[in-house]
Amino acid sequence: GRQSASQRLCAMACRLLRNIRVPRRAARGWTRAFSAQKPPGEGRDSEIRVDASGLLQPTPPLMDFEFPEYMNPLAQHLYEMIAVTGSSLTIAEYMNFCLLHPLYGYYTTKPTVLGRGGDFVTAPELTSIFSELVCIWCIGLWQLQGDPKAIRLVEMGPGKGTLMRDALRAAEVLPAFHDAVRSGGVHLVEASPTLRRKQCETLLEEFGGRVIYAEGRNEGSGEGGAAAEASTDPTASKELPAALELDNGIRVTWYRDPLRVPEGPMYFIGHELLDALPVHQLIRVNDSWRERLVEPNIGDAVEFRASVIKRPGGLSEAPEAPADRMPGPDEDQFRVVAGEHPTEGLTAILDIPESELRPGLVVEVCPAALKLAQDIAKRIAESGGAAILIDYGGEGLPRESLRGFADNREVSWLKSPGECDMTADVDFSAVKRAVGEVPGVAAVGCVSQAAFLGAMGIRERAMALMNQEGFSDEDKEKLYQVFIRLVGDDQMGQKYKVMGIVP
Ligand code: SAH
Repeated sequence: GRQSASQRLCAMACRLLRNIRVPRRAARGWTRAFSAQKPPGEGRDSEIRVDASGLLQPTPPLMDFEFPEYMNPLAQHLYEMIAVTGSSLTIAEYMNFCLLHPLYGYYTTKPTVLGRGGDFVTAPELTSIFSELVCIWCIGLWQLQGDPKAIRLVEMGPGKGTLMRDALRAAEVLPAFHDAVRSGGVHLVEASPTLRRKQCETLLEEFGGRVIYAEGRNEGSGEGGAAAEASTDPTASKELPAALELDNGIRVTWYRDPLRVPEGPMYFIGHELLDALPVHQLIRVNDSWRERLVEPNIGDAVEFRASVIKRPGGLSEAPEAPADRMPGPDEDQFRVVAGEHPTEGLTAILDIPESELRPGLVVEVCPAALKLAQDIAKRIAESGGAAILIDYGGEGLPRESLRGFADNREVSWLKSPGECDMTADVDFSAVKRAVGEVPGVAAVGCVSQAAFLGAMGIRERAMALMNQEGFSDEDKEKLYQVFIRLVGDDQMGQKYKVMGIVP
């Protein structure tokens, strides 16, 4: 029969305890309290093994096996966590671990994921024109609002910092706007320490300046020898940059939470941000919604998954998985199942017409994106500013779209957690509904990226570049290819959408 959650917890705790090694000095006290032994067969003095197996009488552990070598640390960690808590992960939880786990997350540990040669290429990495046009959109709104003297230029999820670098360069053409940014500062919201360092590096390289570290240990460039060197290479220090004083007078400050950006008119940029926020998936079973969950792919995986997911209505017949068959090196380490009970909370934010409901329908919801959009909208309603959100997705039914990317190819996100990008289409209708609940702001769009860039003058800008002196035929050809990629119908032009939040 099935073990209860507490039995499983107990079994797992025992297994973990058995394997704890403590340094000899720390263990001396324990030696008296429990009967500690040297690990059998190991003559080393430096550690002893505490045999805690006598403390509890465990039921047979759910996962009394050695993890296979090919299973990465995050997969092992999640297997253990699921066993310890006795409950599967929501897809949103799984996605959060995969992307942002402090030690094993995709964004937290892999600084090279973006750009050519990385796992995916984003528009700002293709050409500076994209970021220039985003900057011009901000300038337009700033002018419409009577050119406030100090504004906060905010970007969330800045990746390598490329967009902000090119936008700040573009801002130099309008000194009054540049001054306003200088007065209010640039504010970057980033969850990944690795990418924060990368952003710091990108901006320093372009504009020069000095890094400010958290605990007031500031290192200046210009004056002073060794310290100056350290400051121009943010990767050299273990400490995380807290801010940056650029030589152009602009101060850049980092945050994890967008609500920490100080008051004042805020011009907010989110490019390929919302698609990285964790989604939940719900599946229609009989007349209710059940949340889809992620669990270890132990046992008779293929049939289990296929029948559970694909057969409408038949979810309770899931076979009990034998605990002895681990997924092989090329198989998914995890699988998706439907929760046993109807889920209520998330369905409140769904807006699916009755006529669309049918057994087996899978939809996605992203409460994190909705909350973020509302938070930004409230700020804009209070203090002015605007937000531009660019992502793939659309306004239709929020169908299942979560997918994994590595090496510019789609891969299974259930295979090796933390080793691929995970991304889901943005449900712009839901984002607009969320913004609509905030008085004093309006959601505009969404429009296609092609329409947006066209309206912002991408053709004119590209032509101007092409006619520049020293622009070779080869450069022209390259620029043309990039242009097509950004606005082409079957390329980014229609897939990507742009929406704004304005007062
Ligand atoms: N805008 C960049 C990068 C897109 S990748 C570009 O277009 O090239 C997504 C970015 O969002 C990464 O920088 C990632 O670390 C960041 N991110 C993901 N989840 C986040 C969260 N919850 N809070 C802040 N940043 C997040």
